[in-house]
Amino acid sequence: MSNLDQSDLRPVIQLGQGDPSAFPCFQTTSVAEDAVEVALRSNEFNGYAPTVGLFTARKAVAEYLSKDLKDHKLSPDDVYLTIGSSQAIELIISALSCPKSNILLPRPGYPMYEAHAAVSNIEVRHFDLIPEKDWEIDLDEVEDLADENTVAIVIINPGNPCGNVFKYQHLKKIAEIAKKLGILIIADEVYNHLTFGNNPFIPMGNFSSIAPVITVDSISKRWIVPGWRLGWLVTNDPQGILKKHGIIDSIIGFLNISSDPVTFIQGALPQILEKTTDFFFSKITNILRKSADVCYDSLEDIPCITCYNKPEGSMFIMVKLDVSMLEDVFDDVDFCTKMAKEESVVILPGVAVGLKNWLRISFAIEPESLLEGLGCRMKEFCKRHAKKK
Ligand SMILES: *Cc1c(COP(=O)(O)O)cnc(C)c1O
Repeated sequence: MSNLDQSDLRPVIQLGQGDPSAFPCFQTTSVAEDAVEVALRSNEFNGYAPTVGLFTARKAVAEYLSKDLKDHKLSPDDVYLTIGSSQAIELIISALSCPKSNILLPRPGYPMYEAHAAVSNIEVRHFDLIPEKDWEIDLDEVEDLADENTVAIVIINPGNPCGNVFKYQHLKKIAEIAKKLGILIIADEVYNHLTFGNNPFIPMGNFSSIAPVITVDSISKRWIVPGWRLGWLVTNDPQGILKKHGIIDSIIGFLNISSDPVTFIQGALPQILEKTTDFFFSKITNILRKSADVCYDSLEDIPCITCYNKPEGSMFIMVKLDVSMLEDVFDDVDFCTKMAKEESVVILPGVAVGLKNWLRISFAIEPESLLEGLGCRMKEFCKRHAKKK
């Protein structure tokens, strides 16, 4: 990316997205690279795969996810391979589309849900995540928003954009409300196991005996290979509710007419899931923990920014911007535009994820560059634009 200000020779610091694959310290494991190479050279994966995905890969996903499930086990038939979790999101939203239906989405959230709901003509109703309560869901609001046309609630855990991790009791309450409302839960768990605080990651699938759960996940974030485009949609439905309501048929119908993830990446998946070592995973979470610390400490030091939580998972933090303390910055978009122009630091205005005058910052970059971006450049920027007393 070239600098907006041509006279600024400093490198651009990209804190706007969650793709750290370009940094050497975030390189994927050789286990994954070798698995792809072997699959590619085997000559076994040059053809089309079945529309639901290769059986061996579906089986590997079922086993991988079942390790974290307490009272039910997944079967390969519960797993549908997709082009990243992005396609899994598109798939489930279109499978749920019917006249007058509505879906409950988090605010702040992940805008791809809103985009696909719009395409599928599903009405969106937003519930709030509460910053003072570690970004837990406002569950009373969920109950008030829902009606007989509500089909599902989406939860993103570990959280993008908030960097929070839901506790067991909160997840259980979400499941109980879903049961009461007669809706299904879509659990976006693409940051599963990318946790580095006090709360461990608990899959929503553990509560599927209470309400049906559809999990969306991929190798993009945990293995830091978003360009490999492999994800999955998984039905956790021990009571067969999704099948009874035709959702499974709808999912298969969608897959029959859409394109599939690359076959040799599917072929490599069993090795990737089975052979990746804990050493790799803990190396990544250790870097993220350190980056989250640097990020939090640097932001805490800036007067016009309020941090509500120290990130415990994913790669992001949401912080509140007090524009009234700044002289010539009107709102979050203006702040981000001027930061990019004057400091070559890219961050996302909160309005893009549903909260005006907040900022979403990714800390998934090398800790040194993060310190330079936030501790030096952003701090200087805020000082320079501060209102004179
Ligand atoms: C990155 C991301 C996705 C999509 O990732 P894929 O690369 O398509 O697997 C989905 N949901 C959230 C919350 C994300 O951050």
